[in-house]
Amino acid sequence: MDNCIFCRIARGEIPSTKVYEDEHVLAFLDLAPVNPGHTLVIPKNHAGTLLELETGEGEALIVAMRKIGKALMEGGAKGFNCLSNNFSAAGQEVMHLHWHVIPRYSANEFLHPWPGGKYENGDEMARMAARIKEFI
Ligand code: 5GP
Ligand code: ZN
Repeated sequence: MDNCIFCRIARGEIPSTKVYEDEHVLAFLDLAPVNPGHTLVIPKNHAGTLLELETGEGEALIVAMRKIGKALMEGGAKGFNCLSNNFSAAGQEVMHLHWHVIPRYSANEFLHPWPGGKYENGDEMARMAARIKEFI
């Protein structure tokens, strides 16, 4: 995609601080890190969201995230979050699929697990599951 910022980074038209690259995937540091080492992992082929990713293209992304996660852990992180925002309602700002790989250096520093809600009752939970399954 001509004007997509992450496609332009993948093509080398915009500089980035790369940490990993292979035929299908690029990983580079986020300009505005949650924590030092916060890395973005993207498919080189444009996909706007996870829904546009071709079947079979996910494995390379997972492999790359594992490599980054392992390297962050060996570099002193105590854990890491892999997070992908899909569509603007979920906070996606760059419309080229990406995973944030965020190193965590101590527990509960921020991004503490989100507040968990609850279902009113078992029926509501079952109805929700039925609604999801209907569309799979
Ligand atoms: P989103 O909100 O779409 O999940 O996250 C987009 C991320 O991309 C943000 O964390 C933002 O800091 C990062 N970002 C946006 N533009 C650039 C850029 O040109 N270079 C780099 N390295 N990161 C970027
Ligand atoms: Zn793109």
